[in-house]
Amino acid sequence: MTDHKGTPVFIGVGSNLEDPRAQARKAVAALSALRGCHILAISSWYVSKAVGPGSQPDYVNGVVALLTTLSPYQLLDHLQHIESHQGRVRTVRWGPRTLDLDVLNYGDLVLNDIRLTLPHPGLADRNFVLLPLAEIAPDLVLADGRRVPDLLAKCSFEGIVRLPVGD
Ligand code: AMP
Repeated sequence: MTDHKGTPVFIGVGSNLEDPRAQARKAVAALSALRGCHILAISSWYVSKAVGPGSQPDYVNGVVALLTTLSPYQLLDHLQHIESHQGRVRTVRWGPRTLDLDVLNYGDLVLNDIRLTLPHPGLADRNFVLLPLAEIAPDLVLADGRRVPDLLAKCSFEGIVRLPVGD
């Protein structure tokens, strides 16, 4: 049992540069150190081919579930700070990155403004997001009513490998 309070949130973690597994683990450590956030679960890590321009190194992706008392914008500020701290430079859209942190779902909040779209718009068609999300929240109903098991049923498992636990 946890006596922590807050909104349940799912964060997508991705990296394909500079030792992606280490970047991902470092990001989890940074998330767990955030005030107002309490980590509930961390998925396995999944390796997949990059989508985007040119040839890029493989991606490592996972999902973290947490409870937060931060507003979605405060949380996004912290995520962007962690991204910058881990050396992310925003250049090419869809280009390689040392760290990408996305708010996948924030409680029952549906939002579409200049800074935040919730639930995250790419969630449904990305197996590297859906697989780790379903691993830690198999029955999740997203804020917009879509059900993770339904999305997962339509999702291809091609080109993605789950790393052994602890790897
Ligand atoms: P990306 O290059 O994929 O990291 O996109 C970053 C931009 O997406 C930022 O400027 C955010 O304001 C915006 N954004 C919109 N919705 C979200 C979300 N759910 N999670 C993270 N960033 C988001």
